[in-house]
Amino acid sequence: PDRTLVIVKPDGVARGLTGEVLRRVEAKGYRVVRLEMRRATPDELARHYAEHEGKPFYQPLVDFMLSGPVVLAVVEGHGVVPGFRSLAGATDPTAAAPGTIRGDLGRDWGLKVQQNIVHGSDSAESAARETAIWFGADA
Ligand code: ATP
Repeated sequence: PDRTLVIVKPDGVARGLTGEVLRRVEAKGYRVVRLEMRRATPDELARHYAEHEGKPFYQPLVDFMLSGPVVLAVVEGHGVVPGFRSLAGATDPTAAAPGTIRGDLGRDWGLKVQQNIVHGSDSAESAARETAIWFGADA
């Protein structure tokens, strides 16, 4: 089956939304096949967010992702890569549609980085790359 990497970001964990995110994933019919809570390392984040290096929100993003534990989940199911992106909603929580994780649970906090509760891989290639970063090449 297809796989994606979901991260409940530090804001989602701190606000107690981990269960709500996983509930929506499972209610949709996808399967959580790996799950771990821990702190990200600077090296993992540099690799994960390599495409954003040099952008104004890059350092605030890395600092935010280091600010508390994250929950990492490998999620399986046919079509799960675009499927989870639909569940998550638009990157900007103010614009994200109601019914989505970011639209229902997120807001603009007036910070340099959008704290938008979750990450989901944007392609099958990204999912494989990111899963290897966070869980190792054998994952
Ligand atoms: P993610 O990769 O986390 O699922 P995404 O694919 O919707 O989110 P990206 O464009 O990959 O968004 O950006 C990564 C993260 O950087 C976003 O989730 C958000 O936290 C932050 N971000 C992106 N664009 C901006 C911006 N213009 N201003 C502030 N923060 C931003």
